[in-house]
Amino acid sequence: MTKAEAKARIAELRKAIDKYRYEYHVLDRATISDAALDSLKHELYALEQEHPDLITPDSPTQRVGGKALAKFAKVTHRRPMLSMEDVFSPEEFAAWSARIEKLTEHTNSQLPTPYFCMPKVDGLALSIVYEDGLLKSAATRGDGKVGEDVTQNVKTIDSVPLRLRSPMGVKLPKTLEVRGEVYMPVKEFDAYNRKMKKEGKEPLVNPRNAAAGSVRQLDPTVTSERPLAFIAWDLVDDLGQARQHEEWELLREMGFKAAQAKLCRSVEEVEAFWRALQEKRDTMGFWIDGMVARVDDNALYASLGVVGKTPRALVAWKFPAEEATTVVKDIAWYVGRTGALTPVAVVNPTFVAGTTVQHASLHNLDEIERLDVRVGDTVILYKAGDIIPKVKGVLMELRPAGSQATKAPRKCPVCKTDVVRREGEVAIVCPNKRCPAQDRENALHAARAFDIEGLGPQTVSQMLEQGLVKSAADLFALKVDDLLKLEGFADVSSRKLVEAIKAKTRIPLDRFILALGIRNVGEETARDLASHFGSLEALMAASEEALTQVPNIGPVVATSVLEWFADSDNRDLVASYRKNGIVVGTGEKRAVSGAFAGRTVVITGTLSTLSRDQAKEAVRAAGGKAGESVSKKTDFVLVGENPGSKADDAKRLGISILSEADFLRMLRKS
Ligand SMILES: [Zn+2]
Repeated sequence: MTKAEAKARIAELRKAIDKYRYEYHVLDRATISDAALDSLKHELYALEQEHPDLITPDSPTQRVGGKALAKFAKVTHRRPMLSMEDVFSPEEFAAWSARIEKLTEHTNSQLPTPYFCMPKVDGLALSIVYEDGLLKSAATRGDGKVGEDVTQNVKTIDSVPLRLRSPMGVKLPKTLEVRGEVYMPVKEFDAYNRKMKKEGKEPLVNPRNAAAGSVRQLDPTVTSERPLAFIAWDLVDDLGQARQHEEWELLREMGFKAAQAKLCRSVEEVEAFWRALQEKRDTMGFWIDGMVARVDDNALYASLGVVGKTPRALVAWKFPAEEATTVVKDIAWYVGRTGALTPVAVVNPTFVAGTTVQHASLHNLDEIERLDVRVGDTVILYKAGDIIPKVKGVLMELRPAGSQATKAPRKCPVCKTDVVRREGEVAIVCPNKRCPAQDRENALHAARAFDIEGLGPQTVSQMLEQGLVKSAADLFALKVDDLLKLEGFADVSSRKLVEAIKAKTRIPLDRFILALGIRNVGEETARDLASHFGSLEALMAASEEALTQVPNIGPVVATSVLEWFADSDNRDLVASYRKNGIVVGTGEKRAVSGAFAGRTVVITGTLSTLSRDQAKEAVRAAGGKAGESVSKKTDFVLVGENPGSKADDAKRLGISILSEADFLRMLRKS
């Protein structure tokens, strides 16, 4: 990005962020999620770090908290309460650390100083000033310079010492300031809300709001009824400690609660601690939204200084958000196995729900039109139990001038054949039967049906390009010497792949039918066909009438099967499988009795005692079908840990939901 581009983007981001803040704080209307707003601020922050001369005092990054409310007395902080830089991904944390290493002119592989890491409590920041060891005043952060005087309220919090204990061997100065976070423990929050509901009163929204709202009460008796706690995280005054962690110890000795912290000596150790905190997040007893890492050495800490309103020597490493914003660089169209073109948004790398993503699903042209997604747009991405995130919406405020509506391609992006739109279908299709993209997807689909290990998309592409194979059937004629021609293949790896392929020459009938890649014939339909016809010959000879008599098979599938076998290229494919030594088994009869006889079960989430494939197998053995998506035809949805959107679909359609325990009980009964 050029400087001029950065300047323009910074201006747009500031305008949009201010608008969303105004809507949220003044109009009480949340038009964008906290996570998405954070993501925009993060992009702005990163751009300003690259171009520090573009930082202006009115930038949203220079704003620390809310302005002090008029009704509380104002307190000018002895030293400004600064804010922290946020990072989200391991890459961003490593970049922060690299910057520290560079600034401290450090060249060894060891860090210049250990990082002192602690959970980031999600509450309300407070400054508490003691004089001669007695609590004198307490203030909120306010705008960082001037906060609100909440002394009377803070005095009602049990974990705030009213008188400091004297630590061994340290003389306390006349004035001493401690900073930390007020929070409402989750257990207390739940109990308080139960009580409120019982009394018919309005419950509190969440522990973070509860803490902030309780401290900023004009009547201290209200605060005293709220179960609040305080964790200290900073000793402001210099009592002669050389290290941050020593000050932390001192805070404990003075009578403050301090959360579990860790001194980390490498970036890997920091990451491990961050991950451990994330896992413990729900059992900590209070809300945390990330981890704070500080340069442990106080002299280095001070020498690193402050940029804008954020000190360089500490960073907040936030936990992954379910939503993030990014910019669409391109809209690409991928050609699938059946020739259908699927649009995918290619985006600037961003961190969503724990992974860095560069692609987002757009589903189809209708979805693009509904969202009006264009190249250059800033979009909100979200994840819903899927690997590839989806586009939730476009931030119209950030749309560049002169952007063009996204149009469907006229030609296949791979083979340049004119695309067609099948009657009554949304999908745009490349009709070229010899389209290289379709050949590749078909070969990969077959390799999956044959369960061949170690055969990835790149290898298959190379084989097709070099003419080693024309279809999946040719895989079974490959020799070690052939593979040596491919990039990345040596003697051992070639031998291994040839063996892996040769090991799969015997295949059950249903898997073979699946491998053929007939339109509308998935795993379950392939089983129905195999079970009914019993042999490949019988299926190939079946008439339309015979096909429609198969249970669960309608006219659409029947037509697909007939059309497929009527095509001479496809019959040649079957012949070359045979020529290359493939032995197709016979179809097994479906179990007709059992707990799930005639029922369809869809599985979502992770099960603790069974893999997904084992659960599907159990459903089939009990006479049922394992469905892939939830529809009105679904009888049960088996819901495991971290279920996807299928669980919501089930609720919406009123389909019976089974827990893993229910499922196992039903199986045992049958
Ligand atoms: Zn094509």
